[in-house]
Amino acid sequence: MRQNSTEGKIWIAGPCAAESEEQVFETARRLFEKAKQSSIELFAYRAGAWKVRSAPGGFEGAGERALSWLKEVQDSFKTPVCVEVVNPGQVEKCADHGIRMFWIGARTSVNPAEVQSIADAVRNTDFTVMVKNPIIPDLKLWIGNIERFIKAGVKSVMAVHRGFSDVSENVLRNAPLWEIPIDLKVRMPELPILCDPSHICGRRDWIAQIAQTALNYGFNGLMVEAHCCPENALSDSLQQLTPEQWASLVSGLSLRSETPNIELEKLRSKLQNIDSQISELLYQRMSVVDEIAMVKRENNISVVQPLQWEHVVQRYRKHTDDACYQRFIDEFLEILHQNSIKRQR
Ligand code: PEP
Ligand code: MN
Repeated sequence: MRQNSTEGKIWIAGPCAAESEEQVFETARRLFEKAKQSSIELFAYRAGAWKVRSAPGGFEGAGERALSWLKEVQDSFKTPVCVEVVNPGQVEKCADHGIRMFWIGARTSVNPAEVQSIADAVRNTDFTVMVKNPIIPDLKLWIGNIERFIKAGVKSVMAVHRGFSDVSENVLRNAPLWEIPIDLKVRMPELPILCDPSHICGRRDWIAQIAQTALNYGFNGLMVEAHCCPENALSDSLQQLTPEQWASLVSGLSLRSETPNIELEKLRSKLQNIDSQISELLYQRMSVVDEIAMVKRENNISVVQPLQWEHVVQRYRKHTDDACYQRFIDEFLEILHQNSIKRQR
């Protein structure tokens, strides 16, 4: 069922990184303006002040200066701001700047000792802490990190699902492995869980689909990366939305009021995985077709090779004798073949 209101969900948005005072403000100004126009209440504005990068030499964030810019945003728009922290010293700096909300990133989340030292730094304080999943698919580790903050007396703790590192080539940057956050939800039903579709996707065009899937699973909200000028972003440029795109994303989501059907959603997630593999494979197939075309041209071999194509057809037919499916395969192969000939020509 479609609800028109975005109420009741936790919406967090903002750039991957705070790059300059202008970029932080321009993004915030447009985000809050669009949010207001679309009746979306922003729970918090996000921006990384210290960026943990896989390789050295990349943009590592504006550091402590960014905290002053963010505090300005917090005061101007009367909305909390949040950053990522990787050690207790950064928690202290946040407190010095009046910032009371942070998240533990996926790379820090693999290190329980570091997480514990951060939990000790916020013992019995009013900080809001979001714990992202570790990059490896280890639910115990994720839960352990969350428990460290709960045990430290932090009242407001949330989990953020940002996908898991995936060595296989995939359309998505990080594998969603939905069964893991769902399991977390089952084990800790009181814990709000947000989805970060930006880091799952690594690209703009899949964000809406992943965000909708998360809401279908009953996630409590989204943390989305938005930047005033994504193409000039110093980090994660391909996945950031403009503030306007962010507002249309949120407005376009279906918020379900009924309890989600987990069985159905699991199957949908399976289908989504298969679709992303098919899409990746079709793209790879097209590249190989192009390479074949070059070899044929260099060696003066004709484009159409009927016998060769017969082998392809047999490969597709082997799964079942179901007549309806066979007809579908014939039609599909016809399109594939025609397209392949066209490209080779
Ligand atoms: C981020 O949110 O900017 C970030 C670096 O996320 P993650 O730790 O999920 O990679
Ligand atoms: Mn990022």
